[in-house]
Amino acid sequence: MSEAKKSTKLSRRDILKAGLYGTLATGLSSAVWINGCRKKLPTMRPNILFISIDTLRADHLSCYGYTKPTSPHIDLLASGAHLFKRAYTTIPTTLPSHLSMFTSMYPTQLAVTRNGHYVGHDRTTLPEILKEHGYSTAAFVNYFVLGRRYGFTQGFDTVVTREGHADQPLPFALRWLREYKSEKPFFMFAHFFDPHTMYDPIAHFKKKFAVTDRRHPVGRGFVKKKGILTPKAIQEDINAYDAEIASADWAVGHLIAELKRSGLEDDTMIFLVSDHGESLDDLAELDYFFDHSEFLYNHQINIPLIIRLPKAAGAEGATVHDVPVSTIDLMPTILELLGIEKPSFNEGHSLLGGLLGSHITQRPVFGQAEAPNYDSPHRFSIIVDKWHMIMSKEKVAKYELFDVIKDPAEKNDLYKIYPEIAQKLRNDLSEWTDQLKRKFSRSTFETDQKQLEKLRSLGYIK
Ligand SMILES: [Zn+2]
Repeated sequence: MSEAKKSTKLSRRDILKAGLYGTLATGLSSAVWINGCRKKLPTMRPNILFISIDTLRADHLSCYGYTKPTSPHIDLLASGAHLFKRAYTTIPTTLPSHLSMFTSMYPTQLAVTRNGHYVGHDRTTLPEILKEHGYSTAAFVNYFVLGRRYGFTQGFDTVVTREGHADQPLPFALRWLREYKSEKPFFMFAHFFDPHTMYDPIAHFKKKFAVTDRRHPVGRGFVKKKGILTPKAIQEDINAYDAEIASADWAVGHLIAELKRSGLEDDTMIFLVSDHGESLDDLAELDYFFDHSEFLYNHQINIPLIIRLPKAAGAEGATVHDVPVSTIDLMPTILELLGIEKPSFNEGHSLLGGLLGSHITQRPVFGQAEAPNYDSPHRFSIIVDKWHMIMSKEKVAKYELFDVIKDPAEKNDLYKIYPEIAQKLRNDLSEWTDQLKRKFSRSTFETDQKQLEKLRSLGYIK
């Protein structure tokens, strides 16, 4: 992305030239900081396409610097959009991560910290708010924990759950777009599960990424002993992971092509995000391969985030943002663009100012993790500027500190080298976890035997 601009380069004149103040539909107005001045913006009511690709590490997309061509369609999207290099999930587990995006709350506050927890009807989610404000809402889901059973799809008028590869829910999403004739704007959630284990890429992508037919014992609940996964086998599985990313990318290309064909593209705001990353072999020293949920290292929480504004609001070209942001910032961003007041329970902060050319205020980014053999989160993390501190609950709490700019693989623990920074981050992290405890309320765990078995077979519960 050599032609990419830094986020602060857009001037107010650029934004005016893009027609933001002059050409948009009028209505209620919202306010946003542009170059230090608080400005009123006309309210927009664009369609919103919210794409989530499960288990997608940012650093395995070509537009994030990966050397293999895993993501031609996502790269094309990014070439006219805002790309956040340092976007982080609140938790590396599917259901709580997605729910966090749609409530702008942390998993502990939601009492949904693992797959299989139930999303209470007392929770108010983004699709519910959008529906109240006149949006049609539709979810096309590729994994059962995000289906109706666990309450995640509350607020959606249409819900289609099809497991397997992206090619299962995709035709339903394409048909829904093709047949969309309503005057109402829409909010579409499209979820693709391909990069999650087990890997069995679609034939076309197998060939492209030289994936062998041999299946390796990777993933939850499978053998993970040192020595069983040879370097050759590990590389073959990484090839398969990349092929699965390409398969999800192919689906993204189809969705955007259908928007264009249906004449909806210019009026649609597009989000592309993931719920968490994947360890691959980055934690081989811990005998931990091709997995997520238990740790808070960069490879599990640094997810891609690409946002393309509707044509009337968007500057052309790519904009790259370096500031750390969280997936809890997405809901406030959408609400501010629509001129809808942010609910008091939202913990995140709108990125809209940054999308329109202003600075994004740097704030601490928090994360938490819960392993299947724990009954509450056992790891917490804080990211401030270049620093990433992780606290693991053990007999005595263990802390690690990394400089993620110099050491993105987080191999050099600097906790003892920078005691003052470590102490400051410990204090901030402790203050945040105390707040979480105060707001915590236990959700009802509602699931049946068959679902429990399925969750157990995937390793999410013991
Ligand atoms: Zn997931």
